[in-house]
Amino acid sequence: MRIAVFSTKPYDRQYLVAANEKHGHELVFLESRLNEETAPLAGGAPAVCIFVSDVASRPVLERLHADGTRLLALRSAGFNHVDLEAADELGVTVTRVPAYSPHAVAEFTVGMILALDRKYHRAYSRVREGNFSLEGMKGFDLHDRTVGIVGTGKIGHIVAQILKGFGCSVLAYDLHPNDRTRSLGVTYVGLEDLLARSDIITLHCPLTPDTHHLIDDEALQRVRRGVMLINTSRGPLVDTEAVIAALKDGRIGHLGLDVYEEEGDLFFEDLSDQVIQDDVFSRLLTFPNVLITGHQAFFTHNAMVQIAETTLANVDAYSSGRPSGNEVQPAAVRG
Ligand code: NAD
Repeated sequence: MRIAVFSTKPYDRQYLVAANEKHGHELVFLESRLNEETAPLAGGAPAVCIFVSDVASRPVLERLHADGTRLLALRSAGFNHVDLEAADELGVTVTRVPAYSPHAVAEFTVGMILALDRKYHRAYSRVREGNFSLEGMKGFDLHDRTVGIVGTGKIGHIVAQILKGFGCSVLAYDLHPNDRTRSLGVTYVGLEDLLARSDIITLHCPLTPDTHHLIDDEALQRVRRGVMLINTSRGPLVDTEAVIAALKDGRIGHLGLDVYEEEGDLFFEDLSDQVIQDDVFSRLLTFPNVLITGHQAFFTHNAMVQIAETTLANVDAYSSGRPSGNEVQPAAVRG
């Protein structure tokens, strides 16, 4: 099947080409992001493959459908960038890669906690400048600290597992608590309780209308003073302006973001020669206790192999008329 692959980076091409040796699809690589302007570039390909920075809104889907596209193969787990209702109405099947490497994201999350706590990012620059002072480098033991995990699915569960190894006390909030996570010694509590009792809060739920700005000013009024907040899930889970206010008055003591509300205009591109126009993002960069990475938590060799393989297997299943089990239904976004 012909597949128009949007937002292709050299690493996407490398892994998709290697995986395709077994699948034999016709891959058409496009560097552009998918949006209303670029949708015609799909050129009527029956399958279109997109990443998290692409936007599959209703008008985009209508254009793709009118040109002949019937399958939208996401090479991501998250699907908040797709209008699933519109896809359903048009009869465009949407598939995703539900689990490529939850370990990649979970390990990155714990790395971010350690980096912020023990200031690896500051030490890296300091030592290279010949500054071996320990002033401002003091951290805290993770042992015996309380960590609150919001969303104990594939990633949140592994985060809990790793942090239990550090001797943390782990609280969790999830719409659907599970016994597997409970068996690690994790205690499920309500969101308000989690906010009030955690030294570290880490977000691992999907972005849905219910979770948009889950961490807003009201939530930040409830947290422990100096809390560490980590978001490696989706940017809009957090109200960035509210977070900046909480950083300024000390309610948040450390902030780690791998995702950002307005990341579409920034992430995955080299903008080092340009002036960043996003003043909110620029303000975040001024805080010494903030660590931001550009949506790279998923980015390991293992994950890239799995993403390419599952994406193409999803196309195989569609083209042979059988379900892959990785179809996303509109009900998923309603929670
Ligand atoms: P998952 O579906 O396995 O788990 C999500 C969990 O969140 C489930 O247990 C679900 O019950 C819970 N949940 C849903 N709505 C909730 C709500 N309103 N409140 C509390 N909990 C709720 O997903 P996963 O594989 O663990 O991934 C979690 C998120 O991580 C994804 O949605 C995606 O946005 C993000 N992600 C980020 C990266 C990255 O590179 N930064 C990579 C992969 C995934």
